[in-house]
This record gives sequence, C-alpha cells and structure tokens, in this order.
Amino acid sequence: MIVMKFGGSSVESAAAIERVASIVRSRVAMKPVVVVSAMGKTTNRLLAIANDAVHGRRDQALEQLQELRSYHVEESTPLVRDEDRQELDEVIDSHFQELGELVRGLAILGELTPRSVDAISSFGERLSSHIVTFAFRRCGMKAVHVDSRKVIKTDNRHTHANPIFPETYNRLSEEIPTFTEDGVVVMGGFIGSTMDLVPTTLGRGGSDFSASIVGAGIGADEIQIWTDVDGMLTCDPTLLDGCHRVKTISFAEAAELAYFGAKVLHPATVVPAVEKNIPVLILNSRRPDTEGTRIVADTVHCENVVKSIACKRKITVVNIHSTRMLMTHGFLKKIFEVFERYETPVDMVATSEVSVSLTIDDTERLQSIADELKRFSEVSVEENQAIVCLVGDNIRFTPGVAARVFSALERVNIRMISQGASKLNLSCVLAQADLKEAATRLHDEFFSELDPAVFD
Ligand code: ADP
Ligand code: ASP
Ligand code: MG
Repeated sequence: MIVMKFGGSSVESAAAIERVASIVRSRVAMKPVVVVSAMGKTTNRLLAIANDAVHGRRDQALEQLQELRSYHVEESTPLVRDEDRQELDEVIDSHFQELGELVRGLAILGELTPRSVDAISSFGERLSSHIVTFAFRRCGMKAVHVDSRKVIKTDNRHTHANPIFPETYNRLSEEIPTFTEDGVVVMGGFIGSTMDLVPTTLGRGGSDFSASIVGAGIGADEIQIWTDVDGMLTCDPTLLDGCHRVKTISFAEAAELAYFGAKVLHPATVVPAVEKNIPVLILNSRRPDTEGTRIVADTVHCENVVKSIACKRKITVVNIHSTRMLMTHGFLKKIFEVFERYETPVDMVATSEVSVSLTIDDTERLQSIADELKRFSEVSVEENQAIVCLVGDNIRFTPGVAARVFSALERVNIRMISQGASKLNLSCVLAQADLKEAATRLHDEFFSELDPAVFD
C-alpha cells in the first residue's frame, strides 16, 4: 500500500483532477490510499465567508457561498459518469445546504469560535474527497470514499487538533486495508473529529500530516506528497528564481525546513513517518515523471554545506528587558510561563545580560502576553520581521559557515542569530523588507556549485 496526497492546486479544477486520476491509475497496483486537500483556495474562501458572516456581512457571505458552490458544480460536472450524476448532485446539495445553515447561524451569533471555524473549514475536504471519488470511477477505477472524521480521531484543540494516535491507528488499520483490496481509497486530508464526533482540523496545510498519519496507520510502503513544485527546492521559489531540486534529504533536515517556513511540507508530517520509518516523497502533479524529493531516515552525504534555505515571513520579535539591573534566576521561567499560558509557540530566542528577544508567528494573543510581561519587565515589539534559516547536516561539521553567512549578508541588518539548538540549522532574523535580498545572496553563496548526487 502507498499513500498519495494531492494538495489544493493539484485538485483545483476538472483538468487538474483528471491529471490526478491518471497518476493514480498508473499506480493502482501499489494499492493507493489517496488523501486530498480542498479544491484550490476553498479553505481560505470558507474562512472568509465565516468571517463575513460574524461581522454583519451576512448577505455577502451567502453570496460568496453561492459562488463557491458554482465553482464546485462547474469543476465536478465533467468528472462524473452519467449514472453517478444524481449522487453527485445530492452530495453537493446536502453539503451546501448544511453550509448555508451554518453561515446563517454564525450571522445570528456574531461570534466565531474555534469549534465553528473547524465545522466550516472541514467542508472543503469533505466536498473534494467525494468529487475525486466520482472522478476516479469515471476513469475506470473502483474508488471507495472513506470519511476521515470516522478514522482520524483527535483531541478538541480546534483549528490545530492533535491526533489520538493509538485510536486513530487502530481504526485506520481495521478499516483501510480491506478496502484497498477492492479499489482505491479516497479520503479528505486536514480533517478529523473528536471521540464524540465533533469535526476538528489539524491546522493549516494539515493534509500532509493526514497523509503521514494514514501511512503510519496502515503501514504504507511509501507516503507521496503530490504538489505544484518539483520537490523540496534549495529555497522558497516564491522568493527567488533559479532554485534547484533537492533529490534526497533526511527526515531531520526536512522537519527543520518545514518548521522554518518551507510550506511544501507541513512540519508535523515527518513525525509519524519517522516513527514507522516510511519514506516520504514530494512529487509534482503537473510533471509526474520528475523524480521529486525523497525524504529518508538516514543522513544523506552531500558535498554542499547547506541543503536548503527556508524562509518564514510575518514574524514578530518580542524584546523583553528586565527591569532589575541584572537578570535574576527565574526570569526566563517567568517569561516562558506567560507564553505557555497563552499557548503561543516561540520559534527563536536570544538572551543577553538583561534582555531576551524572541520570535513568534502567531500574534493573536500578543496583547495579553505583553500586558502580563510588563508586570515584571519592559516590553517592545517589532513586526514585519522574517527568519531565514539555512539547513544542512554538514553545518555542524564545517568551520566558517557563519563567516560566509555574515559576508553574504554584509549589507543586511541582522536582528537575531541562532545556531546550535538543532545542530543542523543556522537561522537569522531580519526585516521582512530585506528578506528577498538576504535569501538571494545566501543562495548565491551556498549554491553556486552543486553536488550532482544531491541536487538537480
Ligand atoms: P499543496 O497545496 O500541494 O499542499 P502548498 O502550497 O502547501 O501546496 O506547498 C507548495 C508550495 O510551497 C510551493 O508552491 C512553493 O511555493 C512553497 N515552498 C516554500 N518553500 C519551498 C521549498 N523550499 N521547496 C519547495 N516549495 C517551497
Ligand atoms: N485545505 C487545508 C488548508 O488549506 C489543508 C491543506 O491544504 O493541507 O490549509
Ligand atoms: Mg500544503
């Protein structure tokens, strides 16, 4: 068995879903379990609709919902067999009817709880997984739809729920393998439900994580993440041209890159894969014959020091200055307790004699955090920062990496630096306005020559 996950752009239109069908059909012998994201930008659109509904823009929300429905109808219509058409209509009708009721309910309540966010955003994958199932049938495959909410069980931390692994693995291993004997299984990514069946989601970009959970649960031979780029690249391609494909990378390196902004992979994806030692492949659904990137357990020998550069935008730096002369013991503890209380993860930390700087990317509760910190320190906040993070196993063994970074960035004001915590990364914080220049210069510095065994 293999897991094949297709992201939003890979299922954004009838033509894209047809490409997916032909990719899956050519691998049917490997007993695929297909995990799909919502079509195109559906999740964003659903969230915008929910937001309009609770902010007094009910009619606009319902209008947007109608447009989203038309999009689903238009793209799915060419994909079904005549004998399935009525069933498809019923699926679309019932889902959009439920969505309409939800939106009206939200408009009355005027309040959007994380639980309602999950209820509404779960519809993207619920719809796409049905549509893809019909499309597979039309292409001659026996396709079975499995409702992810019945097998992916999570806690109730809505919008970023954690899987309950033993329960989920049990259900997956009981349900899925028998279906694969019969045909291709199709499931929605991103979604699950609590033990009492309330819909939950695994966090934005979470379909990659779903694929990996499913892979671990069924003991898959491989987890394939099909997306819109040729694999893990040497830098974020939205930031600069001329990035190269990384052919093989270790789980540890991939996890670090994902955590520091390489959106191509959700950071949690590697966890179940590592646990069960299942290789993960990143592949391009528009160019299915390209080899992609293979993520494996062992370290990968490479002549280059750096494997890839990850960039994380919209970072906020919080500077905390002790109001006493020197940092007393317990100062750091007090600081981190505040972040813990507000469930806000800290990415990077730097400390000096009397001050601590740290970065966060979730600023939802920053005001409350700052108010609490101000009880025992002075606090300042810098927005619009970015992290640029060099990742490579060789960083720990190679002298002079920092010198090369500093000379490449000589004209950029580096706000914070971190190396050593993970041994395989060196990260800098800088103003987001400088990110493109910094990434370009670092890419020129570290990828002007390429080890042909590792890079394309
Ligand atoms: P999907 O919808 O298939 O899950 P995503 O948009 O989540 O796709 O992730 C793919 C995108 O990740 C690419 O289009 C690319 O812009 C972005 N990306 C950022 N960093 C990297 C990187 N280092 N390598 C490849 N892609 C990257
Ligand atoms: N549809 C979800 C999102 O847009 C999950 C995913 O695509 O991975 O975040
Ligand atoms: Mg993604």
